[in-house]
Amino acid sequence: MRTSLFLAAVLVPQIMNAQSKPIVIHADRMVDGRGHVTNNAFVVVEGDKITQVGPAPKGAVTYDLKGMTLIPGLIDVHSHLTWYFNREGRYHAGRNDSDTPVESMLSAAGNAYATLLGGVTTIQSPGAAEDHDLREWIAMGQIPGPRVITSLVPIQNPRLTPDSMRAIVRTRKAQGADVIKIFASASIRDGGALTLSDAQLSAICSEAKAQGLRTMVHAHSAESIKASVLAGCDQIEHGVFATDESLKLMAEHNVWFDPQICLVFRNYLDNRAKFEGIGNYNEAGFAAMEKAIPTSTEMFKKALKTPGLKIVFGTDAVAGAHGRNVEELVCRVQAGGQPAVDAITSATSLSAASLRLGDQIGAIATGMQADLVAVEGDPIKDITALRRVMFVMKGGRLFKNER
Ligand SMILES: [Zn+2]
Repeated sequence: MRTSLFLAAVLVPQIMNAQSKPIVIHADRMVDGRGHVTNNAFVVVEGDKITQVGPAPKGAVTYDLKGMTLIPGLIDVHSHLTWYFNREGRYHAGRNDSDTPVESMLSAAGNAYATLLGGVTTIQSPGAAEDHDLREWIAMGQIPGPRVITSLVPIQNPRLTPDSMRAIVRTRKAQGADVIKIFASASIRDGGALTLSDAQLSAICSEAKAQGLRTMVHAHSAESIKASVLAGCDQIEHGVFATDESLKLMAEHNVWFDPQICLVFRNYLDNRAKFEGIGNYNEAGFAAMEKAIPTSTEMFKKALKTPGLKIVFGTDAVAGAHGRNVEELVCRVQAGGQPAVDAITSATSLSAASLRLGDQIGAIATGMQADLVAVEGDPIKDITALRRVMFVMKGGRLFKNER
């Protein structure tokens, strides 16, 4: 019920901007987002939707994507569009620099555009107050960007009582949040240990459920994952220290898992000077992130082998990473050993299902939103093809065409 209300709000305004006469797209290859690969594929788009997929339709081809592979628009379930580098080239953390709120919002709009051009047509932000207006302005077609789904301000303070946490959940819903984001463990830079009690976690996740909202939980340690799963929360973020037992527990409880194995860590390390000296971006913090790359890669390999575990795609993109979201998929395949077709399914239909939008986005199929991306080459043979995004359509509206 809530999902359809949300979609009405977010998707309807785009229809007015979508082209009305049928568009025929041909590509050498298509990966449909549900695990199928087809050669010589045709897709027909009318308005904001896909109306036909398969053999050559009548009429001229509008976009002939020779040498390219068509995939559904990618879905990143963990991206922080409001994080950016300020005019001094430093990470903009709160109000500690001279940037105005308007300048900060323009940076978020820039990040949204970069993300869209990088092939991502839907993101979930976990989250910031500014996401609300960003979501609305993109949905109205006023600025280019991926569809935004947001938690608004997350719940992080472990000193709050369970009752006040329940009240915050209701407040977030009233403010327009699509999902509730919780911190159940410390940052990876501070060790990642459990921070909330069972009573606090269960208060948040049960209240969210009662309000019809999903929950996503930042949890690094095995203990924090276990507590979140047993509290009835819906999705676990990060899980660098997940054990076989905690991976199995998520699978048994049908909890979505969103691990990261490289982009977020490498981005911090590559941009170290821009973050260093702010909060926990210190010597120990950077050492912890360097260590997290091999640790999380080994954890990810175990996650892939865990029967029934539903792994979605979230990059935790922060300042410096927007538009490079696919690097995480390249790592999943090259370092983590995930088959390329599974990596694409994770970033499309599985991630859509985690957002409860599986009947709207995340696959190239009749009746779905026309979110289509073409990359040069064949990502099944060489996952780095995802870096070469040549064509981006969202809801039937064309944003990039570099044939
Ligand atoms: Zn994050």
